[in-house]
Amino acid sequence: MVAALAGTGTELGGAIAAAREHRVEPVGLLFGAALPAGTVDRDAFERMLRGLVERARAASTLDGLVLSLHGAMVVDGHPDPEAEIVAALRAVLGDLPIGVALDYHANVSLDLARSADVLCGYRSYPHVDMAERGAEALELVVRMARSDTRPDRHLVKLPLLTVPHAQEDAVAPMRQLLAAADALRAEPDVWAASALPGFAYAETDRLGFAVYLAARSRAADRARELASLVWARREDFAAPLVGPDQAAAAATMAPYPVVLVDVADNVGGGSPGDGTALLHALARARATGSVAVIWDPAAVERAYDVDGARLAVPVGGHSDPRMGPPYPAAGPVRRYGAVSYLRGGTYMRGQRVDMGRVVVVEDPIGELVLTERRVVPFDDDHLTAVDVHPRSARAIVAKGAIAWKAAFGGYAARAIYTRTPGYCPAAVDQLDYRSRPAPCTRWSATPTGRRRWARRSRCPHDRLIRPGHSLISVDDQGAATD
Ligand SMILES: [Zn+2]
Repeated sequence: MVAALAGTGTELGGAIAAAREHRVEPVGLLFGAALPAGTVDRDAFERMLRGLVERARAASTLDGLVLSLHGAMVVDGHPDPEAEIVAALRAVLGDLPIGVALDYHANVSLDLARSADVLCGYRSYPHVDMAERGAEALELVVRMARSDTRPDRHLVKLPLLTVPHAQEDAVAPMRQLLAAADALRAEPDVWAASALPGFAYAETDRLGFAVYLAARSRAADRARELASLVWARREDFAAPLVGPDQAAAAATMAPYPVVLVDVADNVGGGSPGDGTALLHALARARATGSVAVIWDPAAVERAYDVDGARLAVPVGGHSDPRMGPPYPAAGPVRRYGAVSYLRGGTYMRGQRVDMGRVVVVEDPIGELVLTERRVVPFDDDHLTAVDVHPRSARAIVAKGAIAWKAAFGGYAARAIYTRTPGYCPAAVDQLDYRSRPAPCTRWSATPTGRRRWARRSRCPHDRLIRPGHSLISVDDQGAATD
């Protein structure tokens, strides 16, 4: 596992590199990952957790633990899986320092913040700092192990759901909020400071913007200070979208390439990747020179079943009626056997990706890349691997919110964020949540209207808190509900 992940631009790749720098021997326990999709099976989760705990128990010489947990997993029958993972390892490893690297989209719970000694959330979107955050988690774990100290931790969960396309790190409001977190982190006794927008498209009661602070002193005050800034900028998370027809029409005009951002069919957010709204709109606009990737194993199968240099096949729209009617693709066809490549860009560099068999149809609107497996636009290698060259395209349909910038951002002339149907829609208030926390419209960083959680007696890890350091607390927004 260590050999496979060393040198990759992932959290564990970064942790392994930092371990060597700090003369620490990295010991791999267990690694598993999946492209975001539906709820994780109970059995799969339990089997992996058992395997992880058994390996932790068998590795008797551990001095500290770094976990890469993402933080937005949803598991059947396990409402807070990341907290459960840390608690299960804690039960085996006792007071061993545990540092957790988390995604920008983590839905952090109080239990997770409390059971881990430190959380290191990404500070970039697109997520190009995964390796740095893994390295940071390792460095903090080493610091804890060598000094036998622990920081105070404080979590504020704000009643604020934001959509991915409004969370870009280089744009307001996240740009200013991340800078404020950086300024806090630069203070000498602060160990970690994270502003994590979270992932709104999950059926869980852990939704909400999380602000996390780990410091030797004033963790709660500093966390509330940062949370106040987030709250003050909440209106700035509204990001308007353009309808598919208007977007497609705009994409027929220079400068090129134009990225048509299919925000709702965000594959990295768990949407299927077979939405056709933009294909139909491009056809209506008589666009040419476009590039689009569609997950369609049946169309790939059909392309292999028939001979000939041309193909007519309905593509996309097969997973769910909301993904639109299939698009009638027709034109010269190129067939590729199982395609696999290593990501070469800034996003999860070095990770191997398996696209399955791929068929490219040279349709009047452009090259339609039909894949057997779902593919995320985190790099442009998935296109060049099948001889598609997005730099010279007129329009690139990107099924993602912001992550596509790691792939096409360097040469895209423009981006148009479009209002498409899909599993990650811009209007979260129209989603039929069953278990999200009760909405509330007021929040205050002052103690008024806030209930302090200090369930010392119920926390199994009190012993980790050094004398004179307060137990982690959280601002409970229930009390602030209008
Ligand atoms: Zn993310």
